[in-house]
Amino acid sequence: MELLKQKIVHEGIVLNNNVLKVDSFLNHQIDPKLMLEIGKYFAELYREAGITKILTIESSGIAPAVFTALQLDVTVVFARKRKSLTLQTDLYTETVHSFTKKETNEVSVSQKFLNSNDRILIIDDFLANGDAALAMARIVEQAQATVAGIGIVIEKTFQPGFSRLKELGYRVDSLARIASLENGQVYFAPNLP
Ligand code: 5GP
Repeated sequence: MELLKQKIVHEGIVLNNNVLKVDSFLNHQIDPKLMLEIGKYFAELYREAGITKILTIESSGIAPAVFTALQLDVTVVFARKRKSLTLQTDLYTETVHSFTKKETNEVSVSQKFLNSNDRILIIDDFLANGDAALAMARIVEQAQATVAGIGIVIEKTFQPGFSRLKELGYRVDSLARIASLENGQVYFAPNLP
């Protein structure tokens, strides 16, 4: 998606060879016009996929998820991060190792928000090792619902997330694909056909 790539080029900050900071439009401050375009883009890709709900993870997945949900006329549920599992029932829970924070969290979704007849589009801001997306996919499967696809705003193709998700048979669509962050530079990978 060209507009997103331009934003990354002009405002992205390469923190190191593995991490891109995009806090001026996605991870802290949010650019609603860009989110609207992201929402439209994902919605076009999934228009015929029979999506009934979008699942994301707090907090940075929420903006792209909500804008996509508006276009598809469905609701959004976001997985909540918890440091430890308190004695709470009626939750689907999975463990996620955070790539950026280097800590392991429980993420959970209330069972009342996912049903076995749901077709879920999972959305997240970044795809690195794939742990966050996989945890969400497992939550969907705990609910015996269907993962219709995984929409990623920024994929880093030099990390294994995409291959892991594809090997498990998931549909994955990324709006910007970054091949390398070496030497403080963003190098994009070609769009997939
Ligand atoms: P994964 O679970 O695929 O390893 O990492 C995805 C999660 O880590 C995303 O939800 C995102 O919050 C965070 N993340 C991974 N790589 C980056 C990055 O380069 N920049 C930022 N800002 N977040 C990232």
